Amino acid sequence: MKNDNEKGVPGPDIYGLSAAELTDVSLEAGLPSYRGRQAFEWVQRRAAADWAEMKNISRADREKLAGRLTLEPPVLLQVKVSKDGTRKFLFKLADGEKIESVLMDYRRDGSRDRATVCLSVQVGCPIGCPFCATGRMGFRRDLTAGEIVGQLLAVTAYARRADAGFRATNLVFMGMGEPFYNMDSFLRAARILNSERGQNIGARRMTVSTAGVVPGILRLAAEAPQMGLAVSLHAGTDELRDVIVPLNRKYPLAVLMEACREYVRRAGRRLTFEIAMTKESATAAQARALAVLLRGIPAHINLIPVNPVPGSGAERPAAERAAAFQRALTERGLAVTVREEKGVDIEAACGQLRQEFNNF
Ligand code: SAH
Ligand code: SF4
Repeated sequence: MKNDNEKGVPGPDIYGLSAAELTDVSLEAGLPSYRGRQAFEWVQRRAAADWAEMKNISRADREKLAGRLTLEPPVLLQVKVSKDGTRKFLFKLADGEKIESVLMDYRRDGSRDRATVCLSVQVGCPIGCPFCATGRMGFRRDLTAGEIVGQLLAVTAYARRADAGFRATNLVFMGMGEPFYNMDSFLRAARILNSERGQNIGARRMTVSTAGVVPGILRLAAEAPQMGLAVSLHAGTDELRDVIVPLNRKYPLAVLMEACREYVRRAGRRLTFEIAMTKESATAAQARALAVLLRGIPAHINLIPVNPVPGSGAERPAAERAAAFQRALTERGLAVTVREEKGVDIEAACGQLRQEFNNF
């Protein structure tokens, strides 16, 4: 890592560097290696947003580090609080793009100390599922690892300021964008957040959701086999899935299912399939097709009643239809649960995150 700063080029984002990499920066700056570890802990464990907060590093040494690194946390523009305690955060990034993150607080549901943060990985999404607000806004750019990590640190700093008494115990990479289209940054962010010197969130407490990017599924099995995997299946036939998850035209169901089987073999764990229930998808014919497709794959099915997205046209099935769909899957031996609804009233639920909104 060279010091580009004298040429006016900003140094790397401190939020996206590991403890080992910060140690190297420290040595290159002529400082002892422990300065790098201290800076890592200030940022990653204590969510420091400013060099001045790093009290055990002398001013002169802070300046040396600041000369080689960028410390520019996402700016929290607004927080919306749902009736159920879910909070949605709107952040502005250094280039002015905006992203959203969600905090789901499960404490009031009797789950002591459990809080899950849902992180975004891209600004917008190139896959363009028609029922998803992120997909409808189009793709703007990938987030850097530092911007992914920065969301969690900003939420942590907010919780501390608000004296809200929680810390993130679980992470889901299920916000805006497709994690496996930004694989390097997503994996780097997960490793940093996993670090014992930082947030120390175990890989088993992280789950990533993909629309079905086959190479990413296999890479996850190789590089982060302990992380949970959720695959957005949504339909049991190529005919329907081609429309609601356009990526299906690239990786059709037969190919996707083979990758899922391979994932189970390589990672040695079962996976989750997400199915958003709409009037079109929650039918007896789809339940039959899904049962055939999923036969023999150790998996859990998570049903999500589709959340309202303006202009998407996707509608929830009637309650009896949804119940019949669930029953049809269960009777065929599949393990099914319905995803608990969080934050729909503030547009913080699955598929409702986007950059532009009228009512924020
Ligand atoms: N791009 C990844 C992760 C982000 S989306 C993926 O598609 O898996 C997270 C989950 O929300 C996915 O299962 C997605 O299909 C689902 N989702 C999108 N729009 C939705 C909506 N309007 N209602 C319910 N779930 C939705
Ligand atoms: Fe992208 Fe996932 Fe939304 Fe589809 S559901 S558009 S893959 S974020």
